[in-house]
Amino acid sequence: MRISNKRSRWNLLRRKKKANILESELPTQLLRDPFLLDYVKIEAYLAVVLGIRPSSLITIPAEFPNKDLYGKQIDALCREDLRILKNAGVADKPVLIQRLKEKIRKSFKQVVIESKAYQTHVKWAKQLFLQSYQVEVRPSIHEFYLFKDSHVERKLRRLVEVRKIAKKTALTDSPKVHAQRLNLVYGEEHSYDFLNSMGELLGYPSCCVQSYIEDRLQKNASVEIRASKQIEELRNNGEKPDTFAFFARNFFPCTPKCQKANAVGKSISAQLMDFSPKLADLHLDCLKKNVATIENYPESITRYKENLEKRAF
Ligand SMILES: [Zn+2]
Repeated sequence: MRISNKRSRWNLLRRKKKANILESELPTQLLRDPFLLDYVKIEAYLAVVLGIRPSSLITIPAEFPNKDLYGKQIDALCREDLRILKNAGVADKPVLIQRLKEKIRKSFKQVVIESKAYQTHVKWAKQLFLQSYQVEVRPSIHEFYLFKDSHVERKLRRLVEVRKIAKKTALTDSPKVHAQRLNLVYGEEHSYDFLNSMGELLGYPSCCVQSYIEDRLQKNASVEIRASKQIEELRNNGEKPDTFAFFARNFFPCTPKCQKANAVGKSISAQLMDFSPKLADLHLDCLKKNVATIENYPESITRYKENLEKRAF
């Protein structure tokens, strides 16, 4: 009984804190901040503040405004190391690859971590009472997670370990995976445990997570192309995708009319509307862009793959 009283007091406090945040000037200031992308403000920050998503993920610097500048600056700082690596004999390459990776890490710190955009993201996390956790995916790419509850951090730490194992397994066990260099970079995309845990942490409905996993693991199919085709088929039948089902960038609903995904998007929208119609409008704008991104995926995939191939680190 005491525990449940304590818990309800704690929940009340949290609800008050959430209301205070959203009734303050902070959302208006957030809306105006040029150092965060619009969808990041809503989908990564506010959806977690509202308690609708347990956590969110921002890939840095790819999801910063002017993202290309950071890559260019890092490339410039590492150009000499890359030149030495390219001209070296086979025997020297392993050591030089490690040296290059370290140089990229150092440059990432200098260029990204010390940037105004990064500092602004950290500032917003604090102001909105969110915790953050950072993971290096590659020396030039980090994931920046936002969440409220400490148990999420424990799950994220576990996820990092699961990913390490999955990457190793992809490198050593699967000749099929060896055949595709892109898959080696993202070996974790072949781990059920990783994909399932990640989906849960990001607040994705289980039907959508299972559909994603089935595509990736059983059918060895492109989730992006499946999702794009589903929208195309709907439109060919004179129907429209359910915009609210596309509640986060890089999220793929199991169908463009998934009821569970739709409920998440609608819940974010309704709560934002309570505090600021401007925020709700911006949210709707972001959702429409999410639909368009998936719909146009087949055209953009070639460009994306080319860029990825260029940046092996
Ligand atoms: Zn679904």
